[in-house]
Amino acid sequence: MYLKRLEIHGFKSFAHKTVLEFEPGMTAVVGPNGSGKSNVADSLRWVMGEQSMKLLRGKKTEDVIFAGSDKKSKQSMAEVALTFDNKDHKLPFEYSEVEIRRRVYRDGESEYLVNNQRVRLLDVVDALSRSGFGASHYAVIGQGTIDQMVLAGPAEVKNLIEEASGVKPYYTKRDKTIRRLEQTEENLTQVSSLINEIEPRLKSLRRQAKRMEEREGLEKEYSDLNRQYFGHQYYLLDKELKEISGRFDGSQEGIKKLEHEIGSFQKVLEKEEVQTGNSNSFLDELDKKGSALEKKKLDLLEKLAEIRGKLKVPVARDFSVFRKQFEEIIESITEKNLSEVKKKLKDLVAEYSQSDNTELLKQKKELDDRLEKMVEEIHDHNTAREKLIAEEKRKKSFLTEEEKRFRIKSSQLNLLKEEQTKIMVEKARIETRFESMLQTSRETMGHAVEPTDKVESVAADLPHKIEKLKRQLELAGGVDELTMQEYRETEERFNYLSSQHADLTKAVTDLRQVIDELDHVIKKQFDEAYGLISTKFSEYFRILFNGGRAHMNLLKEIVTEEGEEIEEKEEGEDEEIKGTKQVVGIEIKATPPGKKLSTIAALSGGERALTSIALLCAMLASYPSPFVVLDEVDAALDEANSIRFAKILGTLAHQTQFVTITHNRATMHEAHTLYGVTMTDEGISKILSLKLEQAEKQVKS
Ligand code: ATP
Repeated sequence: MYLKRLEIHGFKSFAHKTVLEFEPGMTAVVGPNGSGKSNVADSLRWVMGEQSMKLLRGKKTEDVIFAGSDKKSKQSMAEVALTFDNKDHKLPFEYSEVEIRRRVYRDGESEYLVNNQRVRLLDVVDALSRSGFGASHYAVIGQGTIDQMVLAGPAEVKNLIEEASGVKPYYTKRDKTIRRLEQTEENLTQVSSLINEIEPRLKSLRRQAKRMEEREGLEKEYSDLNRQYFGHQYYLLDKELKEISGRFDGSQEGIKKLEHEIGSFQKVLEKEEVQTGNSNSFLDELDKKGSALEKKKLDLLEKLAEIRGKLKVPVARDFSVFRKQFEEIIESITEKNLSEVKKKLKDLVAEYSQSDNTELLKQKKELDDRLEKMVEEIHDHNTAREKLIAEEKRKKSFLTEEEKRFRIKSSQLNLLKEEQTKIMVEKARIETRFESMLQTSRETMGHAVEPTDKVESVAADLPHKIEKLKRQLELAGGVDELTMQEYRETEERFNYLSSQHADLTKAVTDLRQVIDELDHVIKKQFDEAYGLISTKFSEYFRILFNGGRAHMNLLKEIVTEEGEEIEEKEEGEDEEIKGTKQVVGIEIKATPPGKKLSTIAALSGGERALTSIALLCAMLASYPSPFVVLDEVDAALDEANSIRFAKILGTLAHQTQFVTITHNRATMHEAHTLYGVTMTDEGISKILSLKLEQAEKQVKS
């Protein structure tokens, strides 16, 4: 990778488009004073992103735009394009040739382009620093600034060496890490103080929440036990209700059955009553008939008596009477009374044989027959009547039985109805108890006990336990929802902050570790660079001064544990001060040949320039930079020194591409390419490609 081409247009004195082609090695730019040579160096600085107007030798941005001259009007835009050969892809672009272009307009608008694509300044600076270009302070060494290298002091020398050795990016990284660490520590402090702020409140809230949790536990147990209790009450009352309903249904059935039976009785009795009525009238008729028969019998008897009278026979002497009298006489026969009996018999026969009235006898016989029939009829009638009466008797007794039973059933029904009323009252009582139990459960548990909560048996001490829990709950007191809400929010915030605290603590540890690692790398790399460069510096010093002595000295500070910075004493007079040693600068001690050791400030301008050149060469030899612009760094050197310097440059040019602006012949001699810069009458710089002789001539003129 090397610088191939520089195109300047409208930049400072280069009003017209001007192109300089470069080869690896050394290119010298020569020309009279004020022709615009340094403007070439400025254009290189500028295109690589330089922001310092002081380094660009201007005040305002537009100072880099061609300002116009007596004969040429000002330009509206300055533009510089730098083309690199990038075959080795040291620049982080895929192109083998990379063109970086910077433009600025008078209105202050500016732009950067890489191969015609707009990019940011940061992209340009980053790409160049990654390739080793542009980042170093010594990439472009301005006119009259070479002695500043050593004059700027130990800290600046240290800085240069760090840049040369490539340790700077680690510093940048370290600085960034420290800033991050500081920021992180600040955040950590803030988070810690926030945690400290909310922790006491959280503790109190936690206590309240714990109480709430305990209360919730008690409430749960209380509600469980209540559910059991009411579930059991439900079971018992439900059972009672079922039983009483069963009893009610039973009584209802009994009532129905009895009512049915009583209904049947009523029907039977009604029927019997009708029948009894019928029987009575029948009996009445029988009695009437009996009376008629008796009357007829009496009539017959009267007629018989009349006939008997007529027959002059004792009334009512019929044959049966005769026979009966006859048999009585026969029966009374004994041995003694025979004559008496004979007489009696004669009288009897005489009594009955005297009546000789046939007609009457015939009538009498008729009447007797009728009487006999009548008697029979009456007998039959009486038999029938008795039968009827017997039947009525039986029926009466039957009805009496039935009525008895009817009354029993009726009283049973009444009893049953009474019983049922009692059952209904009892049922209503149980239902009321059930309702009131449901209401109590609702009041106690917030909802009524469910049928699914039914439980057959519970522990005997359940009510006691419930009472105990109730008392505990009363004593526990309540925590309001707002406090709980505050607890949840505070806890969440606390957890968030704690995790932040943990993350930040880890980040602090990690960042400290990164810083330690970077410190280690920086120290290692710096020590290495210091070793190399300080040795080479002494060598180059002796070459350039053709003798003499120079060396570098590390200046250290001891940072005490309290953070105090104490400058380290000269070697040998070390005092026991505990702390961390830090390199704060590199002191240069230079003694030109034949002189006494003196300070840098005491050296002549040329000696200072030579010492700086020795340092620059030591750095380039140790850590070759791809590209360096030297603007008249050899101005103060005498011829002998110029020759020695030119030779060294010639050697270094194998590794570093130099663009050197010079009036010095020896330097020109070492250059592979020579450009001459002239200033035209129009106040515009022009570039000429020169041969060495032309260049020498130009320098002389
Ligand atoms: P020396 O050899 O004396 O160091 P030089 O060749 O390095 O001289 P420069 O410093 O490069 O000269 O150029 C300075 C010239 O550039 C001055 O004449 C100055 O007027 C001119 N110049 C600087 N800025 C502008 C600008 N913006 N517009 C026009 N000309 C400018």
